[in-house]
Amino acid sequence: MKNLPGRLACAVMLAIWPALAPAEEIPAVSIAFVGDVMLADGPGKLIRSGRDPFAPFAKILASADIRIGNLECVVSDTGRADPEKPWSFRAHPRVLPRVKRHFDAVALANNHSGDYGPRAFADMLERLERAQIGYFGGGRTLAAAHAPLILERKGLRVALLGYNEFFPRWFEADFDTPGIAWSEDEQVTLDIEQARRVHHADIVIPVMHWGWEHEPLASDRQRQLARLMIDAGADAVVGGHPHVVQNIEIYRGRPVIYSLGNFVFDGFDTPATTTGWLLELQVDRAGARAFRTTVARIDREGTPHPAAPSSSLCWNVGQSAAGACPSRRSPEFVEKE
Ligand SMILES: [Zn+2]
Repeated sequence: MKNLPGRLACAVMLAIWPALAPAEEIPAVSIAFVGDVMLADGPGKLIRSGRDPFAPFAKILASADIRIGNLECVVSDTGRADPEKPWSFRAHPRVLPRVKRHFDAVALANNHSGDYGPRAFADMLERLERAQIGYFGGGRTLAAAHAPLILERKGLRVALLGYNEFFPRWFEADFDTPGIAWSEDEQVTLDIEQARRVHHADIVIPVMHWGWEHEPLASDRQRQLARLMIDAGADAVVGGHPHVVQNIEIYRGRPVIYSLGNFVFDGFDTPATTTGWLLELQVDRAGARAFRTTVARIDREGTPHPAAPSSSLCWNVGQSAAGACPSRRSPEFVEKE
């Protein structure tokens, strides 16, 4: 009987606990996504001189709970470029503190992370781990490349998967060789299901590297794969690679942002290739709830600058398409000061 007060407290807790934590009271988690981040060449020189190509977007990035970018280069001081590839990108490891400052994790499944071979790729994995920067879509083995990165915020477990399907395929990981994940339909379906069943994810988002370069509309293959991923349980699909932004679709109430375009990248000079999007996606336990894009205008050094809010696109759950944003920022997107 001497435990009675404890038991009573326990009973009281049990009685009030469900009332304190209904699912709908769990706040939304905001995830910022940017497209291609290429930190060799011009942006690499800029960082070497002490400048920060992410600075104009620092405030928007800092306001998100999770920040994700596609790392369109290898970060290493080892390896050898493939002589047959026209463009090879290797960034100096000095760029990593900049990446760490603005991003929680990077997508590695793309057509440049393997430019200097598997040894340089493995060296990058080690450096990212030492810098405590998360990564997905790549790993030391095939299984690791296909495993989701889980980031937990406000009690919500967000799984990020990454896939490339733009050649060369030899960057792909093998059973015991480091490399990236390639998007075979059957495997992608299995990965999404396992993210929920094995890794207990509440939200699953595949980040894709796909589509034809300079093409403003998603290809039939992109549309087919996006549908397959959402049918398998993905809450949203976010992509890149074409160097331009592409159309957006809402399929079964879930957003597919086919291409975010370039973000930090030099060497482009047309209006389409020097325009990218930062995507702010709001998710809660029920899935994607809202998003907005912020247009980035990329200058000659490869640094993106936020454009006027009037060019942003917005979507709220229940809407069948994205459209112009309301003139005022909705409360969900108020930036932290
Ligand atoms: Zn690419």
